[in-house]
Amino acid sequence: MASETAERFQALMLSREGEATQVALVSLGEDDLMEGDVVVDVSHSSMNYKDALALTGAAPVVRRFPMIPGIDFAGRVRASRHPDFKAGDAVVLNGYGLGETHYGGYAARARVKGDWLVPLENITPFEAMALGTAGYTAMLCVMALERHLVRQTEGQVLVTGAAGGVGSVAVALLAELGYRVVASTGRLEEADYLKSLGAEEVIDRRELSEPATRPLGKERWCGAIDTVGSHTLANVLAQTRYGGCVAACGLAQGSDLPVTVMPFILRSVTLAGVDSVQAPMALRREAWLRLDQLIDRAKLRAMTRTVRLADVPALAPDFLAGRVRGRIVVEIG
Ligand code: NDP
Repeated sequence: MASETAERFQALMLSREGEATQVALVSLGEDDLMEGDVVVDVSHSSMNYKDALALTGAAPVVRRFPMIPGIDFAGRVRASRHPDFKAGDAVVLNGYGLGETHYGGYAARARVKGDWLVPLENITPFEAMALGTAGYTAMLCVMALERHLVRQTEGQVLVTGAAGGVGSVAVALLAELGYRVVASTGRLEEADYLKSLGAEEVIDRRELSEPATRPLGKERWCGAIDTVGSHTLANVLAQTRYGGCVAACGLAQGSDLPVTVMPFILRSVTLAGVDSVQAPMALRREAWLRLDQLIDRAKLRAMTRTVRLADVPALAPDFLAGRVRGRIVVEIG
């Protein structure tokens, strides 16, 4: 055991010098890791918008330094003092402050609380990270629409930021469930990609991103998944049909929401907030189970590319510029 724990492994490490965030590839030992009752051999992590914010320091995602970034990982349990996990179990973790307050997924080993882990059954660690925080959040958004009784027969469901990670998985999941999906994107050159994931129509995001001129617009959507926030979310709410629901999870355009109460008080529209980080364990397990049942593996492969740990820092600015299509898996172990 001593020689196993003495083995060294690679990690990305963030540090802060004045206002600047520095990132370095370092070699660590297990003793360098933070507290926890389960040690995991991390085989895959992924890149999400939030990881790009952390790596570039563009927003204060990281709340203590030094920090191993990476808000999610998948791998196999190496050692466990937790009753629910034993060596060899495949697991996935996202949220709970991973990569923000607790050392994250961009390292070949992690020590975490077993209470944070979700066991993987039919989903492989690679697939779990092809989905990653983005895919699991997309599933939470779909489940929010279902809870608010947005039905397949009622009309079209909109997905904003559709060519991004959450958006791509949301399009695929909604299509799989039989919804008529409209994908909003700033990259119309990705229309074929979005149609291959199941969108029946692709619209230019400029239709939605300008300040609204009226508090209510023509009723277009029976439901929507918004990853963008700001004027886009305000316009989506103003165009949502009577009794519809908008699941909001993102802020790619901005964190503001310049909206009136009219969609709520005249059309009974529901704005359902979706948080993935502190989502209760029962909801997480349900989301991962549904992802396993619903996600078309061929579509998942088509929306995913794989990079190495050393490639991660250079990719972060592409995320913030909206240049990344679909999902990025980081191969670690
Ligand atoms: P991505 O970068 O993969 O996708 C974001 C997409 O938003 C882009 O691909 C682009 O899509 C669109 N976009 C980017 N900039 C703008 C802009 N200025 N105006 C309008 N649209 C824009 O990120 P993720 O999919 O990983 O995350 C999406 C959002 O969801 C982020 O804001 C992220 O922070 C949030 N999120 C929240 C979670 C939660 O727990 N609430 C969990 C996970 C993510 P296109 O080119 O198609 O227009």
